[in-house]
Amino acid sequence: MPSINNYSDAMSQSESRANVLALYPEDSREAAALLKQAVPLMVRHNIPPNPVHYALWYTYSKGQDPELNRHLDRVLRDFDGCPPESASRLFREYIIRDELEDVRAGQQQVFSLVDGMERDVSRSVMGSQNFQNRLGQCLEMLDEPASDRLPGILNELQQSTRVMQSQQEHFLGQLQSAQNEIKTLRDKLERAQRAATLDGLTELLNRTAFTRLLEQALGNASRGVALVMLDIDHFKQFNDQYGHPLGDRVLQHVGQVLRAALPANAFAGRYGGEEFCVVLEGCADLAGARAFAEQLRLKVQSLRIKARGTDTVLDTITASFGVAFAEPGESLESLVTRADDGLYEAKRNGRNQVHGMHIRPA
Ligand code: GH3
Ligand code: MG
Ligand code: MG
Repeated sequence: MPSINNYSDAMSQSESRANVLALYPEDSREAAALLKQAVPLMVRHNIPPNPVHYALWYTYSKGQDPELNRHLDRVLRDFDGCPPESASRLFREYIIRDELEDVRAGQQQVFSLVDGMERDVSRSVMGSQNFQNRLGQCLEMLDEPASDRLPGILNELQQSTRVMQSQQEHFLGQLQSAQNEIKTLRDKLERAQRAATLDGLTELLNRTAFTRLLEQALGNASRGVALVMLDIDHFKQFNDQYGHPLGDRVLQHVGQVLRAALPANAFAGRYGGEEFCVVLEGCADLAGARAFAEQLRLKVQSLRIKARGTDTVLDTITASFGVAFAEPGESLESLVTRADDGLYEAKRNGRNQVHGMHIRPA
């Protein structure tokens, strides 16, 4: 039986490839520090305080996405502020992504949380402004030759400071109590993100996420890209003989085999029912990809399908493989079609084999 790498390692590999890590992994102290950077920026550029802007300027302060920062800098330069339509567009483009449709509800909760924080921050900021105004007045008074008023002035200063301090403390308390809530929401968000990108049965990338990554890989013209497509042989028969639940377990085993065999710069997805795909980036040529597929074929073939909870081997399975190496500028559709054609040939020639597909002559 092929060795199966540490499950969580393999998971984190496919997860990071799918870019599904939490958007905001910092703890509440770091979050508060970033918010403190974001608020003065918003004030300076006259940006209205609302959740969308908070999210944008928070991410801007964090500097995690240079593209967003460049975009925002450009908007500031062109509009001398940030018009609502630009903010909404940037928010959609950089903060929520298409695949997060189903976490809208979670985000609403985050928004109301941020809304509450916003009120506290504004109060705190207003408190600071009052304090500064008062301080300015007091300093002006100090210029006057009236040193007998000094104790009163200092008294007032002290009182203003106390008010401000209590406002700041209140804000800090709010942040701390929000910490747990934020953690829960973050967990929910992560779960929803995983569900949006991973196939529930095999925990490989689902077809949508896989296709998106393949598209990106093909866009990166400097690296050789190979697509390996595999389909379990006579799987209908297997289901008919042993039942669907065992069939499901076979699919999970194949998923584990693929994850464990993935080299660096590769990702795997469940493309259809019992059809899987692997993309190799930085691959030298078709021969290299075929050799990788051949190793996979042997590993699938050496899987021993056992009855649940026993060591009794019920059966083995095989799979057929189609392999295509992307030509410069080749479209996703063309590459997938070629790998699929290779798979068809492998089936036609008797199954349990790898068929490499060269580009068709023009
Ligand atoms: P071939 O060698 O030509 O690929 O034959 P096949 O029987 O594997 O191909 P066919 O396309 O006729 O059948 C695919 C089967 O895969 C049919 C379906 O029952 C099974 N299948 C698809 N998705 C799942 C799934 O999620 N779980 C299980 N247990 N079976 C599935
Ligand atoms: Mg099939
Ligand atoms: Mg099949």
